[in-house]
Amino acid sequence: MRKVPLGADEIFVGGRWERGGGEPIEAVDPATGRVFHRFHGASVDDVENAVTRGRAAADDSGWRDALPHERAAVLRAIGDAIAATAEEISAVQTTDTGKTLAETRALALSAAGTFRFMAAALETMEEAVTPSRGPYLTMTAHEPYGVVGAITPWNSPIASDAQKAAPALAAGNAVVLKPSVWAPCVSLLLARVCERAGLPAGLLSVLPGSGRVVGDAIVRHPLVGKVSFTGGTATGRAIGRLAADKIMPVTLELGGKSPTIVFPDADVERAIAGVLFGIFSSTGQSCVAGSRVFVHESVYQDFVGTLVSRTRRLRVGPGTDPSTQVAPLVTGEHRDRVARMVEAAVTEGARVLCGGSIPLGGVYDGGAYYLPTVLAGVSNDAPICREEIFGPVAVVLPFADEADLVRQANDNDYGLACGIWTRDYRRAYRIARAIDAGTVWINTYKQFSISTPFSGHKASGLGTEKGREGIKSYMRQKSLYWDLGDHPLPWAGGQ
Ligand code: NAD
Repeated sequence: MRKVPLGADEIFVGGRWERGGGEPIEAVDPATGRVFHRFHGASVDDVENAVTRGRAAADDSGWRDALPHERAAVLRAIGDAIAATAEEISAVQTTDTGKTLAETRALALSAAGTFRFMAAALETMEEAVTPSRGPYLTMTAHEPYGVVGAITPWNSPIASDAQKAAPALAAGNAVVLKPSVWAPCVSLLLARVCERAGLPAGLLSVLPGSGRVVGDAIVRHPLVGKVSFTGGTATGRAIGRLAADKIMPVTLELGGKSPTIVFPDADVERAIAGVLFGIFSSTGQSCVAGSRVFVHESVYQDFVGTLVSRTRRLRVGPGTDPSTQVAPLVTGEHRDRVARMVEAAVTEGARVLCGGSIPLGGVYDGGAYYLPTVLAGVSNDAPICREEIFGPVAVVLPFADEADLVRQANDNDYGLACGIWTRDYRRAYRIARAIDAGTVWINTYKQFSISTPFSGHKASGLGTEKGREGIKSYMRQKSLYWDLGDHPLPWAGGQ
């Protein structure tokens, strides 16, 4: 069993490394199918301990009432510590998720940047003195919820963990983080880094475990005042229902089925590079994957021909090989689900232009590989164009004109992202404003910045993450009135 710097059979419960009380978890390297770490996940009792210790820590350590620059100093130290540990974090995440080292390194550095950005945003956050409409001064204050539940998926764990933990901690909360059982190891490593960087004990818990047991217990806990969730839309809906019963705010970052659109005047080399990166990087396991590729009918044959020949040239291999572009999927189970979706599409009439199968032999044996796949011959209302595949599968679809394109692109439950390839900036603007999506990339794709807000429209989510205002989504607003009048309130009358 390969040694990873994760300690023994321990999870992080309210500042203490303890053996989890839940089900055993086996962390598997999807490049080989080998188990590299075994430990016990969290139980409902662990959730109870994490939340109560977190609440006490937020109050007793002075974190809640610390001045912004004091909390910011700790967040900056965490950011620096993550950057200093980036190679180790990257190695663990590649072993746990299969992703390429180049990608996991970038994710680690993005997590470091998130903590540093939130430190800066916190130090410069302003409270408003609102216009007075009487003999009083009015101001708005923002206060933490106490304990925030952060529930994350397996596809980019360190980045999504940081995207929630950094602003929630900045806001003065304690955080109970539940990563996915498919990729829990890097979140445990993040806890060690935060601990070493000086985060007061108890403010962060990391509780890997089943969503239905551990995630559900976090959402239901009465001391958890806000939940920030990233994951599938069905799970997000279930969490939203529970939150409605508690009258608790939630942020939901959910699935997608994003259109990427190629107009006849597009710079073909840029568009090809962008479309390939948009769907096949991260092996398609990206919420914003450009999985519906709309190509104008006048350039459809040529563009699709080039796309297919370039897709065939993508290098499929283990994430540890520097030449790999398409790494294994996260688990064999997930790979088989992707394969079944492609098979079902073919049964319903889709044509496989390339890929559409599991590579065998040599380095592929035991791994969760699937060839990058381009499908054609289906309409936009086919299940393969409606359901999120979360794998390396693009569907190409022709369109006739702008009105036809906008109708097709928006005819989907999701509204997460969109890519537009054209040299005509007026058309780019028109289309960008007409498409239901939280993020639109023009002549680029899958670029992210912590300083730019991120959100999903329609079934892709609720609420916004990132950006300077990101911290405030982990705070409750309170209005204060200060009397400035010379007399008592008149209603009660004088003596
Ligand atoms: P998932 O919904 O199955 O699980 C996400 C997390 O929720 C996991 O930690 C899981 O254990 C937990 N969970 C499951 N059931 C739960 C319940 N009933 N109560 C509480 N928690 C529960 O998603 P996944 O398969 O891990 O991740 C893939 C999905 O995430 C895709 O749909 C993808 O589009 C989405 N995603 C969205 C974004 C975004 O920012 N919009 C980013 C990354 C991934």
